[in-house]
Amino acid sequence: MSAVKRSYRIWLFWVISIQCLAVLVLVNWMHHRNKTRLLRRLTLKVQAIQQGIQWQRVLHWLGPKSALAQSPAPLSNPRNRNIPDHYHRLEAIYTRMRQLAADYPEVVSIQKIGESTTLSLPIYAIKISDYPHEEEDETAILFTGLHHAREPVGTLACMRLAERLAADYRRHARVRRWLDELEIWIVPVVNPDGYKFLIDHQVPFPWWRKNLRDNDGDGYFDPIIDGVDLNRNYNFNWEQGGEGNPSSWFYRGTHPFSEKEIIAIKDLALRENVVCGISFHTYGEAILYPWGNYYPPPDQKLILQVAHEMAERMLRLNGRDAYSVLPLNGRVGQSSVWLYGRLRSIDFIVELGQEHFPKQHRVEQILKAGVSAAYYLIERSQRSGLWGHVRDAQTANPVRAKIRVRGWEARHVYPRVSESRFGRFERWLLPGKYTLKIEAEGYQTKTVKNVRIYPDRLTLIEINLERKQSSLPMSHH
Ligand SMILES: [Zn+2]
Repeated sequence: MSAVKRSYRIWLFWVISIQCLAVLVLVNWMHHRNKTRLLRRLTLKVQAIQQGIQWQRVLHWLGPKSALAQSPAPLSNPRNRNIPDHYHRLEAIYTRMRQLAADYPEVVSIQKIGESTTLSLPIYAIKISDYPHEEEDETAILFTGLHHAREPVGTLACMRLAERLAADYRRHARVRRWLDELEIWIVPVVNPDGYKFLIDHQVPFPWWRKNLRDNDGDGYFDPIIDGVDLNRNYNFNWEQGGEGNPSSWFYRGTHPFSEKEIIAIKDLALRENVVCGISFHTYGEAILYPWGNYYPPPDQKLILQVAHEMAERMLRLNGRDAYSVLPLNGRVGQSSVWLYGRLRSIDFIVELGQEHFPKQHRVEQILKAGVSAAYYLIERSQRSGLWGHVRDAQTANPVRAKIRVRGWEARHVYPRVSESRFGRFERWLLPGKYTLKIEAEGYQTKTVKNVRIYPDRLTLIEINLERKQSSLPMSHH
C-alpha cells in the first residue's frame, strides 16, 4: 500500500472520529447540563468505545507504517540523539563483552545462549568462573539486565559487575575463592531487539519496553500493536498476570515462554540449577522479592532477611537512605516469581535509580549500589545453606531427586531438585536443625535427620539412594 493511501486513510479515520465525538458531546449536553457530571459521563463513554474498537483491524485497514523491524537498521545510521551518549549501541556492548573475555581469559568466557524473537540477534551470557570454558560441578548464580528496552542501566550494572569480578579475581583472595567455587552467569541484554529499536532509530520518546514480536503477523513492526513484555512471559501464574491485549505495554504473549529471549533464560537457569540471582531493572530504588499477594512463600522469613541485608548495602541517590524492600505480585509471570516458584532460586528484581536514562554522574552512584547487591548475594551463597549430591548407591550415577526440607515446603511451589549432570543441589536455609526427605522415581525415599545449618559456612551432605526392589533387573532374581 502506498504512503499516500495510508495518510489519506489516517486523515479519514480522524475526521470520522472527531465527528463521532462531536455528536456524542452534543447528545450528552442535552441530557446533562451539569458540567462535572457531563465530563465524567463522556470520559466513561469514550473509554468504553475505545475498548470496543478492534484496533488490530483498524491498523490493518490503515496499512503498514514502515518496515522498521524487518531487518536490523544499517549501522551507518546515526544513533538515537534523544538518548544520552553514555548508553551505547548494542554492537558496542557486545564488543565490550568480547573484550572482557580477551582481557581475562582465565576467568571469563562469552557464551551464546539463544537468539531474539524477531531480528534473530544473539543473546550472550558472560560466564565468570575458574576454567570458564569447562562445564564444572559448581553452584551457579544468575544476573540479568534489560528485559525492558528502555532500561539500559540494567545492562550497565551487569557489565560493571562482570568487570569488577574479573579484575578482583586477580587482586582479592576473597573473590578468587568465590570464583574458584562458583559459576557466575551474567546476561546483560535479555532484549536486544527492543533496545536496538530504541538506540538505532530517532525514536523521540525512548519509552519502548517490549521486544519486537510481530503480534498481528503482517510482517511489519508497529509500536501500537506489536511487542511482548518479556517480564510477563515466564511460566508461573502466567495466565493471571500482565495483559492479554497485544497493544498493552504489559502484553504477556500468546502462551508462557512464547518468546525466544525468555526460553534462553529458562534453559540456562534450568541447566545450571541456579541458586540465587538478581534481574536488574529501572527504576524506583527498591528490591522486589517473591512475593506478596499469593500463597505465602515457604521461605519467606529467609527471603525477607536476605532482601533487607541486601538493601542495607544499597544507598539511594540522596546518599542517606537504603533501598526499599517491596513484595512482587505473585500472580504475574515475572522472572523472580518463576525462578523462585519453579526452581526455589532466591531471586530478586532490583529497580535501580530514579529514572530510565540517568545522567553519567548519577549512573556511577547507581552502579555502585547494583554491584554491592550482587557481591552481597554471592557472599551469602557461601554460608548458611546446604549443598551436596544425590547419586545411585550402586552405580554412583547422578540422580535427579527432590530435596524436601520438613516444615519448609508448600504445595504451590516446586521443591528444590538436584540437577542431572552431577546430581548437585543447593538449598539456602536459616541456621538451625532440619530434617530432609530425598525422593526420586524408582528409588527408596531417604530421610536424613538432625542436619545442622551454620551461620558462617555451608553444610555438605552426600546422598546415596537405593533402587526400589521392583525396579531391579530380572537377572537379580
Ligand atoms: Zn523493567
